[in-house]
Amino acid sequence: GEETAYRRANLAALPGGAFLEGRWERAEMILEVRDPEDGVLLGNVCTSTPQDVRRAVAYIHRHLQDGEWALRDRREALERAAVLLAEQSVRFAEIIAAESSKTINEAEREVGRCIETLRLSAAASSELTGETIAFDDSKAGANKIGWYNRKPVGIIAAITPFNDPLNLVAHKLGPALIGGNGVVLKPSGRTPLTGLAFIQLLLEAGVPAGRLAAIVSGPGVSEAIVTDPQVDLISFTGGPKTADRIAAAAGAKKILSELGGNNATIVCPDAEPAKAAEAIVAGAFGVAGQNCLSVQRVYVHISLFDEVLERVIRGTGSLRVGPKLDRDTDVGPLISEAEARRVEEWVDEAKAAGATVHVGGQRRNAFYEPTVLTDVPADCRVIREEVFGPVVSILPFIQVADAIHAANDSEYGLQAGVFTESLELALAIADKLQVGAVVINETSDVRIDSMPFGGFKKSGVGREGVKHAVREMSEPKSTIIKLA
Ligand code: NAD
Repeated sequence: GEETAYRRANLAALPGGAFLEGRWERAEMILEVRDPEDGVLLGNVCTSTPQDVRRAVAYIHRHLQDGEWALRDRREALERAAVLLAEQSVRFAEIIAAESSKTINEAEREVGRCIETLRLSAAASSELTGETIAFDDSKAGANKIGWYNRKPVGIIAAITPFNDPLNLVAHKLGPALIGGNGVVLKPSGRTPLTGLAFIQLLLEAGVPAGRLAAIVSGPGVSEAIVTDPQVDLISFTGGPKTADRIAAAAGAKKILSELGGNNATIVCPDAEPAKAAEAIVAGAFGVAGQNCLSVQRVYVHISLFDEVLERVIRGTGSLRVGPKLDRDTDVGPLISEAEARRVEEWVDEAKAAGATVHVGGQRRNAFYEPTVLTDVPADCRVIREEVFGPVVSILPFIQVADAIHAANDSEYGLQAGVFTESLELALAIADKLQVGAVVINETSDVRIDSMPFGGFKKSGVGREGVKHAVREMSEPKSTIIKLA
């Protein structure tokens, strides 16, 4: 039908393999890309091999040795990429909605964000400056002057997850390229098409072929990327277990990682319950909860507990679970039936331990209904681990100090939300939460692409957010002159 036709139209023009040594390559081994909603085959992509990785890295390495690419040209290429993406936004949204678990509305929002990320990346050319060094402040500095500027680190490996298949790629490639680096992208094997289409777009925008490679997931490929001695920096977004594996394999090289979250929101006794409940529903179930900023634990003051719970249940119950391409759908599928089964298992475990399921709790293929739990024991996986699915637990507290303690009682520390009408209380709580960002009168699920983004504890190492990533992806280099 119409759906299949649009899929063919969009996917036919996509490269069916890796981009390396300056060209698109096809090989034998095939990765099937299927729509997680119904299992329909969207396309076959040729997988890469460890040898492909070595060729790709060596080619970029040679290019970086000989090839000049002035900052002005880098900035202009990224500005053009933003314009091209705006022109191709419908196509990109459709590719994202086809291969990932995002609804078409969510996919469109991601494309809009990515245009912004590219614009910010171009504008971050202004970050690539240095300063003079005050040599006369030290005895050893007598008769010397000097300065430092910022130089590219070299070759950056960008390894990205399935849940924002476009914008999380741009958050690595934009800063890496404006910083003057070469990049090897390995997009998630579950959503490779968007990443490959984005490489096409960057080339069209004028990024030199010698600065870019895209590798498709295949046996031994990830290991080959992270262990390659000519890869200088690994920029990873994904789960903490994968991050541990990467760190163990990579040895002494710079690793930036954006990992999971198990985000808390605190609703204080003076909060506006309707406002809080509405934000909680929106923040817990976007992309079916497959969002590192998703609201997972909500601590509500006992005086508001019943009202907030009732409003969250009502809001959740009114969400429409359905096909991704239906404009009226609020919540689409998970990325796979296996993931939906995992979420089902975790909720069943909580139920068996005494939790109450107020709404949801049912699975159909890859779909899991938005689910609201109470009375969940603190050692259940839906409380302790990152659910990465449409499940929120509402938990009561009496003392604010207890809510802060409970919120911080997690291996993760990405973001948190606080609802209160009191500025003093909001700031006092914000000061004590061990997270990368505290959002006042909203939930954890707030991000703009320029803010420093990342977490404490297991939520990651280093910061993204374009200009912050540019600093991480460049190194100060000093020049010192001895005066006559
Ligand atoms: P994942 O860790 O399974 O995969 C991420 C990427 O790592 C994929 O490209 C995968 O192919 C690759 N990979 C797998 N094994 C590897 C290895 N041994 N060496 C190198 N690379 C390897 O994560 P996912 O399931 O795609 O994404 C979900 C996770 O990502 C969640 O934990 C989520 O919170 C996190 N995430 C974090 C942020 C953030 O910015 N903090 C944003 C989005 C997602």
